[in-house]
Amino acid sequence: MSNKHTRRARLKLNRPSLRERARPPKQRTPMGQTFTSANYSGVLVMQHCQQCEVVQYPPREICQNCLGDELIWRETSTAGYLLSRIELHHSLWEYFKRRLIDKPWPIATVRLENSTTVFSHLYLASFGDLPLEAIRKGTAVQVFSHSDSSLNSVLIAVSAQCDISQIKDRAAIAKTMGLTTAAERPGGI
Ligand SMILES: [Zn+2]
Repeated sequence: MSNKHTRRARLKLNRPSLRERARPPKQRTPMGQTFTSANYSGVLVMQHCQQCEVVQYPPREICQNCLGDELIWRETSTAGYLLSRIELHHSLWEYFKRRLIDKPWPIATVRLENSTTVFSHLYLASFGDLPLEAIRKGTAVQVFSHSDSSLNSVLIAVSAQCDISQIKDRAAIAKTMGLTTAAERPGGI
């Protein structure tokens, strides 16, 4: 690293104002931005090919199945099952660093009914008393989209029994997880 970069990095670390209200990553590709826009008003909105009906994820410009270019955004099924559950123990991103102080951050890969596979945040509290070992491959879940505090749509997986029909329910889950608020500095220093 050059001296110039080292000086810049130190400057940033020494300026609490830059770190005070840590946000989740906000960079998205142009296609990622269209996913965010399409999901502002929906539970889970994905691209559907007009020709072959295949649902696309991640978002793309042409159909992965038939190369058709008429991909329409519309609501899709939120039902699916866990492929795997993993825990984030370390992050270089300030926002997640603060969330990893007490416990790891749960993440899931989910196979949706519409045959797509997605990465999502996993809301463990929605599984009630179910032991952690029982939340594994094959466990029925639902996935919905919600804006995080960087105003990007992120996916959240919850138990299949969880009520996510109302926007207030989904908003409450995202808030409880801390996804819709800036991360406070540990100890409020
Ligand atoms: Zn197609």
